[in-house]
Amino acid sequence: RRVPLIAGNWKMNLDHLQAIAFVQKLAWTLKDASHDFSAVEVAVFPPFTDLRSVQTLVAADKLPIAFGGQDVSEHESGAYTGEISAAFLEALESRYVIIGHSERRTLHGETDEQVAAKVTAALKHNIAPIICVGETAEDLETHGASAVPVAQLRAALAGVDSAADVVVAYEPVWAIGSGQAATPEQAEQVCAALRGVVAEVLGDDVAAKTRILYGGSVKSGNIAGFMREPNVDGALVGGASLDVNEFAAIVRYQK
Ligand code: 13P
Repeated sequence: RRVPLIAGNWKMNLDHLQAIAFVQKLAWTLKDASHDFSAVEVAVFPPFTDLRSVQTLVAADKLPIAFGGQDVSEHESGAYTGEISAAFLEALESRYVIIGHSERRTLHGETDEQVAAKVTAALKHNIAPIICVGETAEDLETHGASAVPVAQLRAALAGVDSAADVVVAYEPVWAIGSGQAATPEQAEQVCAALRGVVAEVLGDDVAAKTRILYGGSVKSGNIAGFMREPNVDGALVGGASLDVNEFAAIVRYQK
């Protein structure tokens, strides 16, 4: 059985002081509600400048909250001004890193090849990549829902050979920040196809263990519908992850 993962992608929101207050309040809110962290895993993805603060807090208070970066360099080290290496994220005890988010692909021109190289870099440093894939509204019209995400995932897994610990996030671009989420049935259909890709590339055993998340306008009011689908193993939440109570309510979708 796969442990569901509820992940908050803060994008470019909350500075390091706000991050500390947020993570403290989130941990308290969930503990107060007797949340079983081994039944539903919780992770946050703050800006890079917050990560050291979050790591220090989580370690000092032994908080059961995972964290990671929103991106990582495909390079090991060297003359790459402005980049952050997987080694740095590993040194900060990042369990996960988001790779290939649609905002990176569209606003920063990230290619499938770069995404694949970043996945390899993360795995080399024992960080589980959360590989983001998803179709635009135009792709949806011309190719249907699955074609682009399936091709993106195949490309992203190109350099992954072993029984790698990866997470996949299906985020239809048209659903991100639009308030117009996919339906649970749409999400299930694409997530099932993505699990098929994982099976094809990494084998059935890995596919059975791999978490596939849905992302795009997830809120406390619609999370339960997604989580009822057999191939949806959690959510990657943007806007609704910035409010502690709302994010905690998403984590506690069973209640
Ligand atoms: P929203 O939840 O704001 O639609 O963003 C989704 C997302 O991009 C998470 O990575």
